[in-house]
Amino acid sequence: MKNESNIKVIAYIGPCIRDCCYEVKEDFIKKLNINSNFYYFKDKKIYLNLPFIVKYQIKQYFLNLKNTIKLENTIELDLIDVNKCTYCSNNYFSYRKGNKEERNITILSI
Ligand SMILES: [Zn+2]
Repeated sequence: MKNESNIKVIAYIGPCIRDCCYEVKEDFIKKLNINSNFYYFKDKKIYLNLPFIVKYQIKQYFLNLKNTIKLENTIELDLIDVNKCTYCSNNYFSYRKGNKEERNITILSI
């Protein structure tokens, strides 16, 4: 029996600290064995791109999902990134910026 249902996977990356502001130390990179595709150097500092890591992991998960579901299914990934940096923007709290008590909450409804 064929299963011809369509599956749509929606992933949403909300506001978070971005590579423009997320400075990390070299020992952090080494300890977590982070791939060099996920960070860059600027003025002798290291900046990590967390959303890029999340997008990579979502895409890997999506590919695994696609491989485990029968070929008759069509699977579509909709990856949404709001591209908002919580450190740069004054609209969000940022632990690194000094907001130690406040938190951001994202609520989605489909
Ligand atoms: Zn920023």
